[in-house]
Amino acid sequence: MISEAELLERIPTGLHIDGRWREAANGGRFDVTDPATELLLARVADASPEDGAAALDAAARAQRDWERTAPRERAEILRRAFDLVTARADEFALAMTLEMGKPLAEARGEVAYGAEFLRWFSEEAPRVAGRYATAPDGRNRLLVVKRPVGPCLFITPWNFPLAMATRKIAPAIAAGCTMVLKPAALTPLTALLLTQVLEEAGLPAGVLNVIPTTRAGAVTGPLIKDSRLRKLSFTGSTEVGRRLIADSADQVLKVSMELGGNAPFLVFEDADIDAAVEGAVLAKMRNGGEACVAANRFLVHESVAEEFSEAFTARMAAFHPARGTDPASTIGPMVDAATRDKIVSLVDGAVEDGARIALGGSALPGPGYFYRPTVLVDVPADARILDEEIFGPVAPITTFRDEEQAIRLANATPFGLVCFAYTRDLDRALRLAEDLETGMLGINAGVVSNPAAPFGGVKQSGLGREGGIEGIEEYLETRYVGIADPTRKD
Ligand code: NAP
Repeated sequence: MISEAELLERIPTGLHIDGRWREAANGGRFDVTDPATELLLARVADASPEDGAAALDAAARAQRDWERTAPRERAEILRRAFDLVTARADEFALAMTLEMGKPLAEARGEVAYGAEFLRWFSEEAPRVAGRYATAPDGRNRLLVVKRPVGPCLFITPWNFPLAMATRKIAPAIAAGCTMVLKPAALTPLTALLLTQVLEEAGLPAGVLNVIPTTRAGAVTGPLIKDSRLRKLSFTGSTEVGRRLIADSADQVLKVSMELGGNAPFLVFEDADIDAAVEGAVLAKMRNGGEACVAANRFLVHESVAEEFSEAFTARMAAFHPARGTDPASTIGPMVDAATRDKIVSLVDGAVEDGARIALGGSALPGPGYFYRPTVLVDVPADARILDEEIFGPVAPITTFRDEEQAIRLANATPFGLVCFAYTRDLDRALRLAEDLETGMLGINAGVVSNPAAPFGGVKQSGLGREGGIEGIEEYLETRYVGIADPTRKD
């Protein structure tokens, strides 16, 4: 295993524009810190609007040659990148643990998940197809071809620094699009390491340009208004996403939005309670609760609520908060003080609203932004915590009387990213698949994310899908060519 010092020495800290590592135009750098120790890890070049413009210049210049490369060539770059990320899994895992705090074992899981998008889309690149058909009147011919959208802007969050980047970069490479990537300022190191790997895998200059910055709006705003940009793909909060959609209206930019969630976790009276507890721990505690797909509201049938709550609380009590590099750690710190403080105020508010603390309920003393695994029971259905994305290791449990009420409560949110439901009744499971307002549903499963499946939400959780055979469509336009009947003799 590589040491922290060796790794930090190896990760590039410049901007990557037109195939070159360079300083920001104004020479600025910003601090990247470890949320477990609050100590400095690295100082990264801080892109200015001028650097943003240079990155889009490079992407726009590279587009024409890049889209003409053979799909097989693009596939092989992706496949080599998959092999390289896999071979360097320890480095990627440690980079994520250091900059965002997740335990190393979880970070390794993200490396496998994030790398899989590179492999999946290497397999999709040669399969982009169109069609040739005869018009219904038997005369004209209809040729339908798929074309790359063109230069894209990607804005990614801090919670899955590798997977949220590869989920966009891999299909864009497969489709033949060039890119500008702005990673979250809290976690630029993983993105920079990935850029180094993609370069090593043979990605030509200008195809991927990476511009970490502390001035997200000032740097990306002008790019969104630039007519050379053809697509914006954003993963982050609904609040910022909504603003970016409005900004994209000026040039009717094609947008993909992976936004916030408020996932309900439903446990019915006929559920296998042991399996439901296992699933609940996964759905709640993956990434310490800092996941858009984290179970945010536990809705449990009143007849099994006590049994479920007791068993689940015992499992939550077994988590061990520690710096992610500690082999005993099963939950790391929250990513920053603001995220931890928001959890403190949500839990305090829930108690004011009538919830009872069954476990945890407070932050741990520093250094580091740790919050104790927490279970809240008897949470009233109108408690404010149920309306907010908690983004931490806090599980509020509420009860329901019957299926109709469960569905009504589950749907009572502007979000619709994912739901989880535990039941052994097949008809009920199929009713849920029809009646829940959600982009994704886990039936007796606490994790649904899979590179081969379309990830995405309905309502205010987003637009578009990432992964699956749907994922590459976001980077393709449909062009129709009408051809006069080639058999006409006159
Ligand atoms: P965020 O504050 O919205 O930030 C996400 C990204 O947007 C970061 O790179 C951020 O840059 C950038 N950003 C912020 N303000 C911007 C602006 N005015 N213009 C352009 N870019 C801007 O979200 P976050 O706190 O990092 O991530 C947590 C959120 O992401 C949660 O709501 C979660 O549910 C959501 N999420 C959704 C999915 C999904 O697939 N649906 C997956 C993961 C996370 P800086 O950080 O550098 O300021």
